[in-house]
Amino acid sequence: MRTVYLNGEYLPEHEAKVSIFDRGFLMADGVYEVTTVLDGKLIDFDGHAVRLARSLSELDMGNPISKDDLLEVHRELARVNEIDQGMIYLQITRGAPNDRDFAFPPKDTPQTIVLFTQNKPGLAENPVAKKGIKVISIEDQRWARRDIKTVQLLYPSLGKMMAKAAGCDDAWMVEDGAVTEGTSNNAYIVKGNTIVTRNLGNEILHGITRAAVLRFAREAQMNVEERAFTIAEAQAADEAFITSASTFVMPVVEIDGAAVGTGSVGPIATRLREIYIDESRKAAV
Ligand code: PMP
Repeated sequence: MRTVYLNGEYLPEHEAKVSIFDRGFLMADGVYEVTTVLDGKLIDFDGHAVRLARSLSELDMGNPISKDDLLEVHRELARVNEIDQGMIYLQITRGAPNDRDFAFPPKDTPQTIVLFTQNKPGLAENPVAKKGIKVISIEDQRWARRDIKTVQLLYPSLGKMMAKAAGCDDAWMVEDGAVTEGTSNNAYIVKGNTIVTRNLGNEILHGITRAAVLRFAREAQMNVEERAFTIAEAQAADEAFITSASTFVMPVVEIDGAAVGTGSVGPIATRLREIYIDESRKAAV
């Protein structure tokens, strides 16, 4: 049984209870982060802590925990749950006033903070990375502030189910004819020595893995273009891939039934995956 963290306490998972009035439950009024663990250490902890602070501030929510304490809780949960490879999920909500109201509760309402671990042995050696994934395209019907990492994940969840129903692994979302991102990852295409991915803005989540992978790509003398691209351009690309904390760099070999490049995993995605995993391991805390 897992030990989880709730509002300052480490508890057995079945004893951690949150109020029915919690605004995370009633209104999706909460934000989250997922930090990967490799070799028992945290990947890109700083990046996740900085993005968390930004998400909270954009929603005019307080930050109930210092960065040092947050690091300590992550490490303690990984230790007590003996996580060698896996993820740590963190969620902070605006708390639980004793009723439902659209207006925010008073500022001194205690926020809810929850962390739990997800054990994923073999995450870094995932065999799927050798064969790649298939995606479909769907319309992006999420709200307009996708740069804030809120817990309102219903549309991404529906998108994932649409992909599964079509015999695929994930969906790339399209708005005004251009790809925004995957349901829970950033999307990329490769043409020659150039990597193309959507530019930052309110339309996509500013992936922590995205920032690291683009830095490694530039260091490896690849060209990086941060701009919008279409599904047709992606289908005509040499390679495609996604990035996220838990999938690292994952090749995409088919989009809406059309093979990308040779239809098998390409050299650039493979190389970026290796570099990302190696460098992240070295820098893990
Ligand atoms: N976009 C969306 C919509 C996501 O949900 C995620 C993962 N939470 C990402 C991109 C990737 O972000 P990161 O690299 O920080 O995991």
